Amino acid sequence: MDILIVEDEPEIARLIQLSLEKEGFSCYISRDGLSALRVIQEQQPDLIILDLMLPGLDGLELCARIRQKPGAKDPYILMLTAKGEEIDRVIGLSTGADDYLVKPFSPRELVARVRALLRRSLRQGGQSQVYKTGHFIIDIDGRSASRKLAGAVAGELLDLTTLEFNLLTVFVSNLGRVWNRTQLIDKLWGSDFFGDERVVDTHVARLRKKIEPDPSNPTFIKTVVGAGYKFEDSAS
Ligand code: CA
Repeated sequence: MDILIVEDEPEIARLIQLSLEKEGFSCYISRDGLSALRVIQEQQPDLIILDLMLPGLDGLELCARIRQKPGAKDPYILMLTAKGEEIDRVIGLSTGADDYLVKPFSPRELVARVRALLRRSLRQGGQSQVYKTGHFIIDIDGRSASRKLAGAVAGELLDLTTLEFNLLTVFVSNLGRVWNRTQLIDKLWGSDFFGDERVVDTHVARLRKKIEPDPSNPTFIKTVVGAGYKFEDSAS
């Protein structure tokens, strides 16, 4: 598994590289957006760790360019952000990033996030599985989720990040079940996750924006006060 680290601060880049190499990943580093684009074309990394604030071409723009020009491989993108308002930008825009991590983070947290993203591509050859609910169709192998449209045979394809797709899958495979944050973290990042549990709320908010007719008054992903979340939809 090849990982590209795009980070202009040498110490942070080196720390990330050491943490990942210890886990057996091979890493290379780019210090700015333009040289990163060259490396991506030449090396076809499986995953890109992308700092938001970069000289020249910033992380958001680089992310957009990577998604516009998918190569032989469409890499996973883990965005690094520093400040609160940057997180709002990352979430507010549909950046195409699969996950993000707020600085400062621990090496352990970083490794857990990277593993969670790559776990998906390592899990090959499973049996085909499709979940259908009253309003959604989730094709696990095809990695596609769509919303049913009244009177139409084909649904409307949802543009979800890897984490949003995994979260929706957890929900639709257990309709009506109440999940607390720890359980969802376990499902999405694995039990070695450690960090702020509120990351779950952020991903729920992002998913609501994409699937709910009115995200401020959710029909599907309900908040269960004092407990967590549950997904409500009729079985198909
Ligand atoms: Ca930076």
